[in-house]
Amino acid sequence: MTKVPEMFGSMVFSDKVMQERLPKATYKALKKTVENGEPLDESVANVVANAMKDWAVELGATHFTHWFQPMTGVTAEKHDSFIQPHGDGVIMEFSGKELIKGEPDASSFPSGGIRATFEARGYTTWDPTSPAFVRDGSLYIPTAFCSYTGEVLDKKTPLLRSMERLSAEAVRVLHLLGKTEVTRVATTVGPEQEYFLIDKEMYEQREDIKLTGRTLFGMKAPKGQELSDHYFGSIKTRVAAYMRELDEELWKLGILAKTKHNEVAPSQHELAPIFSTSNIATDHNELTMEVMQKVAERHGLVCLLHEKPFKGVNGSGKHNNWSISTNTGENLLNPGKNPEKNTQFLLFLAAIVKAVDEYQDLLRITVASAGNDHRLGANEAPPAIISMYLGDDLDALVHSIINGEDYHSHKAALMQTGVDVLADFKKDKSDRNRTSPFAFTGNKFEFRALGSSLNIACPNYMLNTMVAEELRQFYEALKDADDLDAAIKALIKDTFTAHQRIIFNGDNYSDEWVAEAERRGLLNLKSLPEALSHFMEEKNIKLFTTHNICTEQELRARYEIDLETYCKQLNIEALTMLDMARNITPAVSMFVRELTDAALAKKALSDAIPVTAELNIINSLAEKQEQFAKLAAELEEAVCAAAAIEDNLEKAFAYRNDVFAKMEELREVGDSMEAEIASDCWPYPSYTDLLFGV
Ligand code: ADP
Ligand code: MG
Repeated sequence: MTKVPEMFGSMVFSDKVMQERLPKATYKALKKTVENGEPLDESVANVVANAMKDWAVELGATHFTHWFQPMTGVTAEKHDSFIQPHGDGVIMEFSGKELIKGEPDASSFPSGGIRATFEARGYTTWDPTSPAFVRDGSLYIPTAFCSYTGEVLDKKTPLLRSMERLSAEAVRVLHLLGKTEVTRVATTVGPEQEYFLIDKEMYEQREDIKLTGRTLFGMKAPKGQELSDHYFGSIKTRVAAYMRELDEELWKLGILAKTKHNEVAPSQHELAPIFSTSNIATDHNELTMEVMQKVAERHGLVCLLHEKPFKGVNGSGKHNNWSISTNTGENLLNPGKNPEKNTQFLLFLAAIVKAVDEYQDLLRITVASAGNDHRLGANEAPPAIISMYLGDDLDALVHSIINGEDYHSHKAALMQTGVDVLADFKKDKSDRNRTSPFAFTGNKFEFRALGSSLNIACPNYMLNTMVAEELRQFYEALKDADDLDAAIKALIKDTFTAHQRIIFNGDNYSDEWVAEAERRGLLNLKSLPEALSHFMEEKNIKLFTTHNICTEQELRARYEIDLETYCKQLNIEALTMLDMARNITPAVSMFVRELTDAALAKKALSDAIPVTAELNIINSLAEKQEQFAKLAAELEEAVCAAAAIEDNLEKAFAYRNDVFAKMEELREVGDSMEAEIASDCWPYPSYTDLLFGV
């Protein structure tokens, strides 16, 4: 068996590989591009391309692909072989031009009306800040994707731009504070990823999971997650084998897979990597989700990344742990031992508090999806209300600043285990708050409202941009101050005072919080259409356009795509339900017939034999079937009506308020019929089979 350090990154065109394989001058030029964003010369690109190709071919690659992240929400790839005709045969070639620029036919990717299909040209451009890698016989080159006329068509470009913006603004502020040695800051992200594993054979029999990623019918199993026996429980052999192979595949790709464990719901698990810079973390998270699904196939399993595959047990999310570090190695969100004296930390904290308050709508919008609508506010994930948790210590500090009072730190206490053989240890200064959407966790913020399948580029480019904007305002307010120290203190105090409503340290799942948040004037956007209604507000357009993250037209395109995707997903779900209903009805009739036959046979034998048991079930099911048919017809009508609406926002509301509501009603009757009939007569595997089948 290969040792992990040797295996790690073995499929990555890493810095080490580049140093070994590139001429010194080429390596230096490339480093400059990666570190300082300097443009790359074509002659340099040719040398890099050739070295990359030789390296990839040695690892068995025959093709290369520009790998990108269009607005579909999944990654895209088109493979070209390295072959070039030569004499009677071929040689393997790869040019700098092919490395730098690709031209996929972009006509079928969502563009939100930016392009018509007749002007379908799209370009992919190499992103040298994220390393290339070999997978399944192809050299993968991470790229950004834009249209012929330069419109941004992907998720990566805004992220890269937002990182640049945040870096520039943070550096200006740091220089003001005297940290002139800092030349760049980078945002770091560690995404914790939840998922479900189910048996492939069961999956094959569930039309709903295959087409929509979730169950549209399904009676609750007698057992769910109430015993909390799955959370951190001992990992089953088959799952452990899967996790082991998954880790190895991820390590080969240079992904820092670190933690794995069972999650709350039966069949639910989690994987967390060690954090890296935002764009690499994004690429790695996309790769992780893909590899999770591929490896599952090899184990006769299916990996579900939907936010709510099963009703009645927890769904899956993703925690976006986020921080900012300087190129001199300092984490700007580290409060240090004496946060009350750490002006720099307090200034950055104030910027983040202000950003989260002023752009709470954007944070909510960025995690909105048809799948995540099932989780937010359902007491298994943070509510749809965005707020921040700072922990008791920091909260006390912020309030002492607001009130101009002295601050007394609760110094980290020693935890006494009370058992001699166990070592005493220092407690963390604050406990965790699992209910907060945006929690400070020691030296980073954990944005906890993301859905499991979300591309993390979106929340991160929004977060980076809004913080960049606040830092820009801070710099403007401070740059000409006569007494800088006093000005900073006043700014911190004013900012905390003005935005304290966004800070909430209590239980975010409680009804009191919903009422309190309303009193504070915080938004409570319960579904995607409600959230998206705020997307095109003047302040949001201004934010993205002034920082050159995207144009107003590009932003509108994103808005339209999000709404369209939502409507299409609900449309597919509704049609799938109707299709399943057509299988459920005859199955129930067959069962009713069996009971009827049995009752008639009993009666034929003797009038004295009671048949009440059969009669009760026959009656109940026959009534439910009528109801079921009526609701199915109503659902069909609702779908037709919603589909006919032109305006995307209005349409999304119709899908939410009419179609989705009807689906819930239909499901309820369907599930109650499942509860009444023999399990082998039901046409689909049960929740027991699905959740406890591995
Ligand atoms: P949990 O939330 O389950 O308690 P941890 O606190 O161990 O998990 O960390 C969660 C994630 O936060 C990990 O992926 C870790 O690498 C990441 N993380 C730690 N420090 C930082 C940082 N400075 N920036 C971004 N992510 C970080
Ligand atoms: Mg976490």
